[in-house]
Amino acid sequence: RKLGIALVGLGGYSTNQLAPALQETENCYLAGIVTGTPSKAEEWKSKYNIPEKNIYNYENFDQIKDNQDIDIVYVVLPNGMHAEYTIRAAQAGKHVICEKPMATSVEDCQRMIDACNQNNVSLSIGYRLHYEPHNQRVMELGQQQVFGPVRRIEAADSFVIDEPDVWRLDKELAGGGPLMDLGIYCVQGAVYTMGETPVAITAQFGEVTKPEYFDEVEETIMWQMEFPNGAVADCRSSYNEEAGKLRGEAENGWWELDPAYSYSGIDGETSEGNMDYPQVNQQARQMDGQAQSVMENRKSRVPGEMGMRDVRILMAIYEAARTGNRVQLDI
Ligand code: NAD
Repeated sequence: RKLGIALVGLGGYSTNQLAPALQETENCYLAGIVTGTPSKAEEWKSKYNIPEKNIYNYENFDQIKDNQDIDIVYVVLPNGMHAEYTIRAAQAGKHVICEKPMATSVEDCQRMIDACNQNNVSLSIGYRLHYEPHNQRVMELGQQQVFGPVRRIEAADSFVIDEPDVWRLDKELAGGGPLMDLGIYCVQGAVYTMGETPVAITAQFGEVTKPEYFDEVEETIMWQMEFPNGAVADCRSSYNEEAGKLRGEAENGWWELDPAYSYSGIDGETSEGNMDYPQVNQQARQMDGQAQSVMENRKSRVPGEMGMRDVRILMAIYEAARTGNRVQLDI
């Protein structure tokens, strides 16, 4: 049988990516929704044939524990709300997929992991690129040292925000600026290239060109991560430019994905030529993979512990930028 997924938060990502992907999945389907907006409930109900009893709001959400149709709750809310809804879902006895970044503090990540463990449910993060062929090839090239040991990584992920009243610019709801939202892809990219975590970090905040937007979170941030073998990842993320690149330089060759992190059209090249891999529905593959690990009672490829590891790195990057210090990490 297919597992039933309930999406919590019907914003852009749920509407444009996850719900359509759930029409293509084999191991799971869109069984329910949780929304604070009654008009969205009506719209989704008819569009996706969702029974009334599988529609919840934020007040009656906890009653989902009595609903046999829902196996997995997928939290797609602003970052600052991930911890609360993941913990409530775990307490309702549901497996959880939580969007990235897992939470806005390491402490919240730990509370989420604990709640899932205590309630015997699995916790997985929405890291779709672990199911994407070009990025999977980068993992191989780097970790298996196909071109020898990696010496340098360059990663950038940015987009332009040109409206002021969005949660992504609100410190409380977002936890930070482009680093939390986009820079996390650079952190992930560097770590899955190396197959290990950085041991030291330096970082700098970029210029603030739109102070009326960026009075709570950074507009641009640059950071450098040193790995145990001496390799360095040079990273940059901004809400005031467009970028999406992941490059690796090894002793005997190089590779580059650009765009590296988009939902479609991922393109890559190595020192030996074009990377010719299929375009896939990343979200469908991700949710099918996550549903399969639930069915087989195995840990997810992208578990809560990985989400917490990354939030730890993000917090170290902020500390390095704030203090100007080289921050050492022991993960
Ligand atoms: P969005 O702004 O489009 O949607 C957010 C949703 O949360 C809206 O439906 C909104 O009504 C709801 N919400 C509930 N309480 C809210 C509050 N207090 N303030 C604001 N909104 C509130 O955002 P999104 O782009 O869908 O992002 C949602 C989550 O998904 C974020 O954690 C984001 O990082 C993640 N995301 C992941 C990917 C990916 O590729 N994995 C892509 C986009 C977003």
